[in-house]
Amino acid sequence: MLAYQLIERKRNGGRIEPGEWQELIASYLRDEVTDAQMAALLMAIYFRGLDHEETATLTETMLRSGSSLDLSHITAPRLDKHSTGGVGDKVSLILAPLVASLGAVVPMMSGRGLGHTGGTIDKLESMSGFRTRLTLAEARSQIDRIGCALIGQSDEIAPADRRLYALRDSTATVESIPLIAASIMSKKLAEGLTGLVLDIKRGSGAFLPEVERGLELAHTMVALGARHGVPVVALLTAMDRPLGHACGNALELEEAIHALQGEGPPDLMRVTYALGAEMLVLGGLAAGRDAARRALEVAISSGKAAAKFREIIAAQGGDPAVVDDPARLPQAECCELFFAPSAGFVASVDPRRVGFGVIELGGGRSRPGDPVDHSVGFIIAVRPGDLVREGEPLATVMARNAAGVEAGRRALQGAIVIADEADYPLPLISHRVTLEGATPYEASDTPVELAAQP
Ligand code: URA
Repeated sequence: MLAYQLIERKRNGGRIEPGEWQELIASYLRDEVTDAQMAALLMAIYFRGLDHEETATLTETMLRSGSSLDLSHITAPRLDKHSTGGVGDKVSLILAPLVASLGAVVPMMSGRGLGHTGGTIDKLESMSGFRTRLTLAEARSQIDRIGCALIGQSDEIAPADRRLYALRDSTATVESIPLIAASIMSKKLAEGLTGLVLDIKRGSGAFLPEVERGLELAHTMVALGARHGVPVVALLTAMDRPLGHACGNALELEEAIHALQGEGPPDLMRVTYALGAEMLVLGGLAAGRDAARRALEVAISSGKAAAKFREIIAAQGGDPAVVDDPARLPQAECCELFFAPSAGFVASVDPRRVGFGVIELGGGRSRPGDPVDHSVGFIIAVRPGDLVREGEPLATVMARNAAGVEAGRRALQGAIVIADEADYPLPLISHRVTLEGATPYEASDTPVELAAQP
């Protein structure tokens, strides 16, 4: 029996050959290989890893498990950005309309919440009526008309990733470099891109907290892109605290809308502009990162980016008026402040505890297919390093009932640590990785030596 032998071989540290991957994935999609067998194989991969060739073959096999978007008739650059997963990370919601408003085509395929991290598709579905399950034909026609579509995985596009993603989410097998790389790149390579920018999270809330593992993941995905002729640039960004203030689906969408209106929190905007600048330069839409950043700022201040978001929402069946009145998004029944238990420095705002807190409130899934309450979550006002007084409000819990408020309060008690001193948080953006290698991140276009970075 093929599956049994492959699980056993991988468990013992052996390798799986290209033809075997193809047969295995095809059999899994026909339900001839069970979820239990696939979960066992995922766990074996988690412990034993995959070599470069196996990772490339798995990516290719997942990519070919469905169809690809054929956008070759479009002359404009076709660009996308994907994150390895974070808490409070609503950058995609801002970047897609922002970069599309500047002439790029953005065929963005995203996922649902994974582990403690949120998913762009769940956030978009906070808008009632918004359709994320477009067919390839619908996505293509929308992209032809307005230059952007925000879609989830379907039976047509990388269906193998859709099934494996849900299985990994429920079997603690997310944190694996080859599995993350194959999952992200199989979706992204199906989009027919001419350039891809990756946001590789590092720090305690990332799937791969250590910087070395983040860099390895970045190099793996950059190399996979190159094999398929897609130039990829990766930035390593901090996930030792949530990004921005809002954590929870509708709350994050609301913060993204504020960002598109020019009122985003500084950390969120810095990451958004850095990734957006890379996209514009990759697409040849700006001469350098400095010029790109200025173009992004103007697209926001002129209202062009917000207008593009209205267009996308209307095209996918949502209510475009939310861009002008985010109060139309689902609102939680209960809303309570969380106060500092003592005076001191905020030593940490632990993203994992915050992310699992959102799930406990009902804003994420404990099991595949669980319904999601889009209204719940947290607004966290403080960041590591802030000095706070006893009794000062640190955050707000949005919940569906009193029990939810209590659960949210417990999550925040664990997540927000007040102490006499606080370590420096990680640099918001630390490295830039291309096919040429890794360099320390510099906001301007001037290249610098890696050795110069602490
Ligand atoms: N995002 C994905 O699409 N897949 C992963 O495995 C992790 C983050």
